[in-house]
Amino acid sequence: MQRTYYIATMGCQMNEYDSEYVGRCLRQARYFPVEDPGKADLILINTCAVRAKAEQKAFSLLGRMISLKRRRPGVILGIMGCLAQNRGGSLLERYPELDLVLGPREIGRFGEVLGRLETGKSRVEATTMRKSTLIPVFYKDFFKGRVKGFITVMEGCNNFCTYCIVPYVRGREVSRPPEDILKEAEYLVAEGIKEITLLGQNVNSYMYKHDQSIRFSDLLRMLNETEGLQRIRFTTSHPKDLSDDLVQCFADCPKLCSHIHLPFQSGSNRVLKAMNRGYTRETYMDLIPKLRRVRSEMALTSDVMVGFPGETREDFEATLDLIAKVEFDGLYSFNYSDREGTRADDFKDKIPEEEKLNRLSELQQLQRSITLSKNRAMIGKETEILVEGPSKKGGHLRGRTSTNKIVNFQGDSTKIGKLIKVVIKRAHANSLGGEEAR
Ligand code: SAM
Ligand code: SF4
Repeated sequence: MQRTYYIATMGCQMNEYDSEYVGRCLRQARYFPVEDPGKADLILINTCAVRAKAEQKAFSLLGRMISLKRRRPGVILGIMGCLAQNRGGSLLERYPELDLVLGPREIGRFGEVLGRLETGKSRVEATTMRKSTLIPVFYKDFFKGRVKGFITVMEGCNNFCTYCIVPYVRGREVSRPPEDILKEAEYLVAEGIKEITLLGQNVNSYMYKHDQSIRFSDLLRMLNETEGLQRIRFTTSHPKDLSDDLVQCFADCPKLCSHIHLPFQSGSNRVLKAMNRGYTRETYMDLIPKLRRVRSEMALTSDVMVGFPGETREDFEATLDLIAKVEFDGLYSFNYSDREGTRADDFKDKIPEEEKLNRLSELQQLQRSITLSKNRAMIGKETEILVEGPSKKGGHLRGRTSTNKIVNFQGDSTKIGKLIKVVIKRAHANSLGGEEAR
């Protein structure tokens, strides 16, 4: 009998990796993917709980999936990811239709959990914070037709930024053995993947200690030797762990793309201290010329938050000033939201929602003008892109520069998966338009 599955993935790239991991386990168990949850025998929702909005979205999707299950009671319904970890067994009590609550540190046990669910005898809560790392799962043709892939290289976080729920729901840092990561990279390349992004909440604090210590820079150097792999990216890096040997990798590893995502969160030292970020505005700013020295074209993106408790207009202006000075290529900007159990949840001087929204829109306006002028400066230039697939606009293909900028251009599908040269003709806030170079 053919059984089917549907996984809805919300939140970060690490969740995408986790969903793909579970997907590979399901394929091994002879489940087939479907795009309509109404046709699935097993439905999983992979959730995020980092911001209040993400959590609300997860609950609303869960509500819709519960309605589906009421119409087809034989369906297995599960919730995984950070919200599952955070709420644990209380979700099973609250939602009788739910069969599974699976924390991020338990996905390695998915095969065993599935066996228990299929008997239909018990509902399962798996939310232990396991220290063991994921055993690679290889399923042939799972990634067929894909150009880009992910590998989670380390799990968890030890930093306890005062606003952040991650250390509570993803546990302490644990790094995967380099052999497993290299084997997984070879598997992805054999599947046709050309670009791999290494993932971790704090990817540059990767450290595998066994007979010898393997740092993140060592891992990058090893991966750079993978035959057939064209590009390597990594995310997310913590500024306090951006070592000189990692910066040097950009000089020594040609497959490493010219882009780094380096969240700064705030431009005010007072706020950075209250956030427990472990660096100052000055030490952050010192990293920028180091990176640009080693690769002049280096693109920088970042995460920033507005409306942290106690953030004054002056603090906010220090954030705007840092943005104007660094000239990021792009920014992910968020309104601070309280997360239960974090230290900042108890901080005084909460900023009114309306003020947060005003600050966010002021900040986004500034960044939009920087991004646009950086993109416009590329007009007329020839650049290399990896062609990823059809563009969101019909009739075009979409590729990406080493600096992580999207380029739409007219071309035929034989170009997908290839590195080609394009000349930039148009610049927009979120993408570029180009023509294939002759
Ligand atoms: N480890 C990364 C770092 O240190 O920057 C970030 C990982 S976090 C899951 C992704 C982003 O979510 C953060 O950079 C931060 O800007 C944002 N974030 C985390 N907690 C938040 C909160 N309580 N309210 C709003 N944004 C938050
Ligand atoms: Fe959260 Fe800070 Fe860890 Fe990033 S470094 S995951 S923001 S606690």
